[in-house]
Amino acid sequence: MNPLDLVRPLVKQLKPYSSARDEFHGKGQVFLDANENPFDTCLNRYPDPYQRTLKEEMSNYLGVSPERLLLGNGSDECLDILFRTFCEPADEVIVLPPTYGMYKVLADLQQAKLVEVPLNDDFQPNLDLIREQVRENTKLLFVCSPNNPTGNQIGNDQLRELLKLPVMVVVDEAYIDFSDEPSALELIQEHTNLVVMRTFSKAWGLAAVRLGWLIAVPELIQMMNKVKPPYNVNELTQREGHKALANAQEKEDRVATIVRERKRLAEALSEMAITEHVFPSVTNFLLVRFTEDPKTVYNYLLNQGIVVRDRSGLPGCQGCLRITIGTSKENDFLLDALKNYTA
Ligand SMILES: *Cc1c(COP(=O)(O)O)cnc(C)c1O
Repeated sequence: MNPLDLVRPLVKQLKPYSSARDEFHGKGQVFLDANENPFDTCLNRYPDPYQRTLKEEMSNYLGVSPERLLLGNGSDECLDILFRTFCEPADEVIVLPPTYGMYKVLADLQQAKLVEVPLNDDFQPNLDLIREQVRENTKLLFVCSPNNPTGNQIGNDQLRELLKLPVMVVVDEAYIDFSDEPSALELIQEHTNLVVMRTFSKAWGLAAVRLGWLIAVPELIQMMNKVKPPYNVNELTQREGHKALANAQEKEDRVATIVRERKRLAEALSEMAITEHVFPSVTNFLLVRFTEDPKTVYNYLLNQGIVVRDRSGLPGCQGCLRITIGTSKENDFLLDALKNYTA
């Protein structure tokens, strides 16, 4: 399968905007080409539209070539670029609920048809039902893995099966750093229809910076480069990305602490009478099913100053709240509040 066949004809033919930095990239003494301000504010020049330095660093970190990378203003922008690269109105997109809500919003905006194939009782993809839903104009299949809000990861064996389908398989790995299981990146060399997405928002602790990355075959990255706004990743964000990658060990240390706290919190919560089930998690949150009405528990916690996420309305998540792992002190605060729970 040639993944370029799934790209919108309009995008294939599109002649992209050519910025001053596209037309000249290199060393000059005097830059009078971009109508920039000549006085040095540290930010008076446009940033590199292709973030070449940062991509080199990311490439070293990930072990994939820089031509396979697209950076975005958060992975939400990478998602938006994906939709605009592949989906015409009436094209179809498959999602596996309960999952991240942005896929639906973007499909709606692009007037693509959203086909929902719920995960099974173990929150695993239902391969037969997914296969049945693939049509000629099915473009994207979203696999959030580890999945938000269920907290489990879809194994690479399952992904290999999904990758046999003639669609782009987009694996959203926003939470992969919190997991010990192998990343879908292991499959990137052998599957041209695989897209892997990462973000600096969770494990790297940089949600405010807005930096996401997407890994795919170079031909598709070239298509997406035509679709993205020329300067989509600003200079301050590129600098923060550089700093973060130079201190990757700090990220690892924070992740290790969060994973330790996750285990402690999961054990303590499981022992409580008001919890029915704490779902296993390889992320930085826990999906917890309560014996009491989740809305009542939610409001009780809110009264104590603790904000969690009510996910009880999602399919398969009846009775569930999603609780992010906090600092050790914050988690103690939560546990104390729940121990003293009164409706
Ligand atoms: C938090 C999250 C993201 C992150 O999006 P950003 O735009 O990079 O902050 C992406 N996907 C999922 C599933 C998430 O939960």
